[in-house]
Amino acid sequence: MRITETVFDKEKVSIYFDGSISLLDTHTDEGNVVIITDENIYNIYRNQLEAYKIIQIPAGEKSKTQNTIDSIIEQLLKLDADKTTLIAGLGGGVVTDIAGYVSSIYKRGTKLALIPTSILAMTDAAIGGKNGINVGPYKNMVGTTKQPSFLIYDYNFLQTLPKQEWISGFAEIIKHSSIKDEMLFATLEANSLEQYMQNISLTADLIEKNVAIKTNIVIDDVYEKGDRYLLNFGHTFGHAIENLYGLPHGYAVSLGMVIAAKISAEINNFDIVSVERLKNILLKYHLPVSMELNNMQLLTLLKKDKKRAGNEINFVMLSKIGEAIVKQISFKEIEYLQNQLL
Ligand code: ADP
Ligand code: ZN
Repeated sequence: MRITETVFDKEKVSIYFDGSISLLDTHTDEGNVVIITDENIYNIYRNQLEAYKIIQIPAGEKSKTQNTIDSIIEQLLKLDADKTTLIAGLGGGVVTDIAGYVSSIYKRGTKLALIPTSILAMTDAAIGGKNGINVGPYKNMVGTTKQPSFLIYDYNFLQTLPKQEWISGFAEIIKHSSIKDEMLFATLEANSLEQYMQNISLTADLIEKNVAIKTNIVIDDVYEKGDRYLLNFGHTFGHAIENLYGLPHGYAVSLGMVIAAKISAEINNFDIVSVERLKNILLKYHLPVSMELNNMQLLTLLKKDKKRAGNEINFVMLSKIGEAIVKQISFKEIEYLQNQLL
């Protein structure tokens, strides 16, 4: 097991790489842990979870609602959970988001641990303390920023992760490399998804590299005033596409990154060869790079983006592979570029 300690905005967060669930017991009094997980994980890992108080939620993005939060709170009350209870989120990004949010509001805050089980949660959702739920079609409209006291990475969970979820998670890994790390981008070009799926220690290295990238970005900018915004690369169009067409997050972000790369080529001197490089790497990891899109409907959704600033939007563009910047563009400009490029 390898342990790292990071301080985010005065909060110390420990990460146990190659750890196991039993670490929960060493952090709180006996029996004072409630694990929140989804029905898929519960059904697969039921035996390992027998010793714990469990709250199950239905799997998938549709669970990220206030109704789920209300139901969890009722169950926490029945379980006599109090401020000293350790709430542990065991699952993908949906579960870690929900556990983080509940832990930050239940009795004005409990201790929180996260055990991410998907590539997406390990490399992205579980790092940085953002949590939240959706409101109608709008993603992550309500939430808080709360750091877990610790995270446990147990790579054995990845053995049961469906391939589609591997693919979706790799969109965020490709995103990290595109905005911050050309070497990592080149490594991904040289390897393949199938290689990572078969070689857990190769994947562990990759995940830890991505945790480091995300941590380094967030650490100086917990409240997203600067560099953290770059993590939204591909997400402006990505979120709108996810909403409109119900694609899995990573697939929608993949399409969003291609659009953002084309816009970068048009107005940020990002070279065309690099646009092709990005498309090719996404294809290599089985992610989509083109789709018939309804530009009008997308534009309407973009205007509802929570990152909108008046008639403009802060848009993340690539300058080259491994380097990104934020530029304000107006909706008028976006409409023009959509008609030009998509
Ligand atoms: P995210 O893609 O943000 O991680 P979810 O929390 O919805 O989103 O997880 C994606 C799907 O993968 C869910 O259906 C979840 O139950 C499933 N899942 C997550 N981790 C595992 C795992 N280790 N084994 C099997 N299924 C998993
Ligand atoms: Zn994302």
